[in-house]
Amino acid sequence: MKKINLTIWNEYRHEREESPAGDYIRQFYPNGIHRYLAEHLAADDLEIRAVSLDEPEQGLADAVLQNTDVLMWWGHCAHAEVKDELVDRIQKRILEGMGLVVLHSGHFSKIFRRMMGTACRLRWREAGEKERLWVVAPSHPIAQGIPETFVIPHHEMYGEPFDIPQDGKIIFQSWFEGGNVFRSGVAFERDRGKVFYFSPGHETFPVYHDPVIQQILGNAVRWAAPSGYVPDRITRQPVSPETIRTENPLKSLDTTALHKS
Ligand code: ZN
Repeated sequence: MKKINLTIWNEYRHEREESPAGDYIRQFYPNGIHRYLAEHLAADDLEIRAVSLDEPEQGLADAVLQNTDVLMWWGHCAHAEVKDELVDRIQKRILEGMGLVVLHSGHFSKIFRRMMGTACRLRWREAGEKERLWVVAPSHPIAQGIPETFVIPHHEMYGEPFDIPQDGKIIFQSWFEGGNVFRSGVAFERDRGKVFYFSPGHETFPVYHDPVIQQILGNAVRWAAPSGYVPDRITRQPVSPETIRTENPLKSLDTTALHKS
């Protein structure tokens, strides 16, 4: 069995904060969200690596990225520190087929905004309120084994309008105690790569300790893994698989100069 190479990237700043908030977060994630997830998503079909922003090459040297089938991303306060050159390399890998699973405040990460092409803004409120999620695409692979509805007892509210493109498939929808609603799980396809955004995971609540949330993340990784489809090499002037019999009305014009830049 070929294993899926999952790389879990974390900004890993809040968990190291020397503050009462930092102390509070460390009781749930003493070694960081990335290592917690690596431990709890462990399975026979996954080869998991946990990396973070302050490691050499921001945790994603080219050799690591080339050997990643699915990249999971948690970031919040240091989005701007992620180098544009790294974002370029990640985007290229996604378009080639690598999966991307973006968590919670990663909605504002450079790579998610790059893949969406929109600002990815949303409404938010930190009131520790109840969030109720609903499965709205029960046949989707990411929803398999997940109850129709379930509750996160305390969470940060993320609310609509959420500025993402409309081509995403909505898998989960949330209602918050304060009355807001949110598209909390949305799946996209970009060239040969798959992208899943999942909003649960505010750092001051033990959201990733919930086995239902862990199952959703595991499903998302397996869904986002490359399909194995490899198209023919794409060239600018592909050989036509069928004979073209139609008379080209522009035959007498040399239009090739128009394509040169
Ligand atoms: Zn948050």
